[in-house]
Amino acid sequence: MSDTTQSSKAADTSDVQTDAAQSDEEINVRIDDLSKVYDDDEGGVLAVDDLSIDIRRGEFLVLVGPSGCGKTTTLRTVAGLETPTEGRIWIEDEDVSGLEPRERGVAMVFQNYALYPHMTVRENLSFPLRIRNYPSDEIDERVEHTADLLEISELLDRKPSALSGGQQQRVALGRAIVREPSVFLMDEPLSNLDAKLRVQMRTELNEIHKRVEKTTIYVTHDQAEAMTLGDRVAVLNQGRLQQLGPPQQLYDEPVNRFVAGFIGEPPMNFLPADIVPLDDGGYRAQTDEFQIELTDDLAATVDRWGGDPASLTLGIRPEDINDAALAGDAATPANTIEAYVRVIEPMGSDKYLTLSPTAAGEYEFTARVSPASEVREDEFAELRIDRSKMHLFDDETGQNITV
Ligand code: ADP
Ligand code: MG
Repeated sequence: MSDTTQSSKAADTSDVQTDAAQSDEEINVRIDDLSKVYDDDEGGVLAVDDLSIDIRRGEFLVLVGPSGCGKTTTLRTVAGLETPTEGRIWIEDEDVSGLEPRERGVAMVFQNYALYPHMTVRENLSFPLRIRNYPSDEIDERVEHTADLLEISELLDRKPSALSGGQQQRVALGRAIVREPSVFLMDEPLSNLDAKLRVQMRTELNEIHKRVEKTTIYVTHDQAEAMTLGDRVAVLNQGRLQQLGPPQQLYDEPVNRFVAGFIGEPPMNFLPADIVPLDDGGYRAQTDEFQIELTDDLAATVDRWGGDPASLTLGIRPEDINDAALAGDAATPANTIEAYVRVIEPMGSDKYLTLSPTAAGEYEFTARVSPASEVREDEFAELRIDRSKMHLFDDETGQNITV
């Protein structure tokens, strides 16, 4: 990258939180200033933009982001299937940037598991070892061990056509495990499965990872998969790292509006409120219809930030908006708003409310309230905002000034 792109990049990625690994933790894979440009008719697509991530030994690291953000490209570059335009890949303290895929000690599992249909499960599992000329007793031993680990021992003599989707995916995983790689690379391995099986396999992957204890880099566009599987999660957007950290940290302290909106379901609400100073200090968030007083902490944050409060957007997660009728004394004029209930969706454990500031519905936002709530559709409801959970985003940079 040229100097000019570097410096402009430095300016607008000030919100990036990289959570650098501790020095006493062993780094297994290092993605080091990686950029990848694909040639096309219009002079190139910047698929990965100056990405650096240190992955610790044994860690389950998830790369998550919307379609086209550069996840697959990053993974394929680690695997050696793509050449970096800039930057390097390190595995086991070795710069592997110039090495062939088979020389890197990695095994990749794809979305499309493509088992050999004419081979049994045993033959499918043996194949990666046979082509590498392993002795047959070692092949047998590793296949048995892998089948055991994946709990598919009783399926060894079946053909793939006699397996369910989940079983096929397990065999595909097995083909990577038998090779005993130092690093697993997985590209949306569950996305061909139906929703229920996907959730089940997610749990199994967690268990398998605990047993195998191998460094894993896992790619998905599904934030729920990222949250449940990752020791740490790297959120990418347009080829750039937005935030890297443990799942709960991304949820509680999203560094910018992109991460705030991407992690969490239903997503965080962004309300078109003006942040206006109060006469005797402090601020309130005000729309045409309601106002919420900022906590002292949040007001101090706005002061410290020092920008124009009119250029802030208020973010609040659905579960931090509750039925005021159930809040007792905790609901006060400072934290309670009135909104029109458009739709109620009972989820069993919660009710999702689709709300708008007036019956006309200029915009909508979502609340996740207790199933005991008695609010009704097509009526106004009093809602209590958990003000300590409010986020404020700088409209210009997208940065969350509250973290
Ligand atoms: P993801 O896996 O996050 O969906 P990809 O890494 O596949 O994203 O793609 C990142 C960007 O690079 C996209 O804009 C995509 O269109 C482009 N891209 C990916 N592979 C190629 C390729 N072989 N040639 C040209 N452009 C590509
Ligand atoms: Mg992809």
